[in-house]
Amino acid sequence: MKIISNPLELKEYLHVVKGPVGFVPTMGALHEGHISLIKKAREENDFVVVSIFLNPTQFLKGEDLDSYPKKDDADKKICEMSGIDVLFFPQVDDVYCRDEVTLNAPNVRGFVLEGNSRPSHFNGVLTVVMKLLNIVSPTRAYFGKKDAQQLNLISLMVKQLFMSVEIVPVDTIRDSDGLALSSRNAYLSKAERVEALKISSSLYRAGSLVSKNILETDEIKKEMRETLDGLEIFYVEILNRDFEQLLHVELGNTVILVEVKVGNTRLLDNIWL
Ligand code: AMP
Repeated sequence: MKIISNPLELKEYLHVVKGPVGFVPTMGALHEGHISLIKKAREENDFVVVSIFLNPTQFLKGEDLDSYPKKDDADKKICEMSGIDVLFFPQVDDVYCRDEVTLNAPNVRGFVLEGNSRPSHFNGVLTVVMKLLNIVSPTRAYFGKKDAQQLNLISLMVKQLFMSVEIVPVDTIRDSDGLALSSRNAYLSKAERVEALKISSSLYRAGSLVSKNILETDEIKKEMRETLDGLEIFYVEILNRDFEQLLHVELGNTVILVEVKVGNTRLLDNIWL
């Protein structure tokens, strides 16, 4: 595994690579969720690049940029053991300069749900993903369905800006008790971790209602909010795959999304039905 921090050096290194290149962008503190993206990229491509870059522009003032978990040595070992070809490990100055050209997330879809409580978050996400995709020029790039709005906006960006990369969605990996894996789970105390199980419980409850043919989204959201009782709820939404409101669940075209705060930790999760 080669580790490269300079974008131009990486571009040059990848220039001679033949065959499909898979790319997995991450912010580090790698867990089984990240590993499943890497495995899929390994299966589907001849060459795999993973990036670890804690992107400052997607954090708002007062958020957890400075306390975000850092596990550089463990991350490098995980990448090595996962059989990747290149780890792109840049510093902030390698990626950003002064007086930057930036991308803006779309006015509606970028500023609802997570974008409502974190305005400008998705501007930062799209800007860094655009930069990373331009540096790596992958055939395919892998993103978790767990960050459904991020996945939706990146897919929109690639389509609307006529970029030639295939965006591959990857299923959410959970702990055995149902909690979706997240680098931010490290912030949770024991008691908070138990409280956080209400998130997946609310999604399972939604799934169970749908399996009983209860499809009215208002009814499902009401019951989900009951399950989430005691947590600060940012949103509970039931949308179609284009992120438009639904009155009734449409099987094969529905995403149910939750974002809550447990203690001081913002957690999100969803299921795709
Ligand atoms: P992050 O390091 O949090 O920016 O995540 C990097 C990538 O891993 C993103 O595409 C996430 O959606 C994805 N990811 C994070 N958690 C999970 C999970 N539990 N299961 C699958 N993918 C995940």
